[in-house]
Amino acid sequence: MEYLYDKQVNPGEFIEIAEGVLWLTMPLPFELDHINLYLLEGDGGWVVLDTGIGTSTTKSLWQRIFGQLNAPIVGVIVTHLHPDHVGLAGWIADTFNVPFYMTQTEYFTARAFAAGRNGATNARDRLYYQRAGLDDALIDKLTSGEGNGYSSVVSPLPISYTRLKDGMTLSLGANEWQVMIGRGHSPEHACLFNQKKNILISGDHILPIITPNIGAYSTEPDADTLEDYLSTLPQFKALPEDVIVLPAHKLPFIGLHERVDMLIAHHHEHLKALLDACEEPQTVVDLLPVMFKRKLSSRNMVFAVAECLSHLNYLHHKGVISRSVNYRGQYEFKSLEAKQLAC
Ligand SMILES: [Zn+2]
Repeated sequence: MEYLYDKQVNPGEFIEIAEGVLWLTMPLPFELDHINLYLLEGDGGWVVLDTGIGTSTTKSLWQRIFGQLNAPIVGVIVTHLHPDHVGLAGWIADTFNVPFYMTQTEYFTARAFAAGRNGATNARDRLYYQRAGLDDALIDKLTSGEGNGYSSVVSPLPISYTRLKDGMTLSLGANEWQVMIGRGHSPEHACLFNQKKNILISGDHILPIITPNIGAYSTEPDADTLEDYLSTLPQFKALPEDVIVLPAHKLPFIGLHERVDMLIAHHHEHLKALLDACEEPQTVVDLLPVMFKRKLSSRNMVFAVAECLSHLNYLHHKGVISRSVNYRGQYEFKSLEAKQLAC
């Protein structure tokens, strides 16, 4: 793999990465400290591709960017519903009164997350963590919040949108972008490929250096999101090997085919390690050290449990491990003898 730059562009600035494609970054208040955003030349102005997390810092950086652009904002595209991508979509789209593009599942899931529990109890969230093997104190900590973390960092979403569909061509001015859907990191993540420019905007579906989080969360505990992910990666190997990949995190790169192979191999290593560890019955919490070598903060615990469970669900759906509930109400996973995982 080859990187096109050796460092990130500074927040509040942008560079032209290809004709009609600008690259900028916004800071994030997490371990992952930045997100890459892009501006695509459209009809009479710029189309924003992902928007940053909805904080006053991001807003003031956007104001600086808007002041430097040679043309107005004429549209907003969001790859998927995570707050660092969709955070300021409503604010930008409604400020400029321009079309807002998203896939259907991402759009409506974002609207649902923004609405929160809406009076429903948190019993199902508690059961999810109990099944994973967390102790009561940590379950209390992770589920007691009444607030809506999502809408605190996502500005109100536009109440109408333009739907992106798999395989469609999105024409922005004279530029044609083909929509390619990736699943697993989020339910219907849009990637955009421009054949003429030989550019793929990969969002979070394909990242260099780091692997996107693939989780089975409390909203759908039995989800086979790893199958979703692994089955929507190979399509990208049909794109040119020398395509320029513009990811949402880390640096733009060339080497898409190699990266796809690495991501698939990474998950298969985890699957094999989990299968070996399940010779004796194990809970999700027992298995976390198999996948995560470092100590986990409670915030990281949420992602780690979901990631581990997505791998176990994959093995369970493939019929190579069994799942039972022990006397403490926790799932126990055990590998089934004579079953082999086909890779
Ligand atoms: Zn994401």
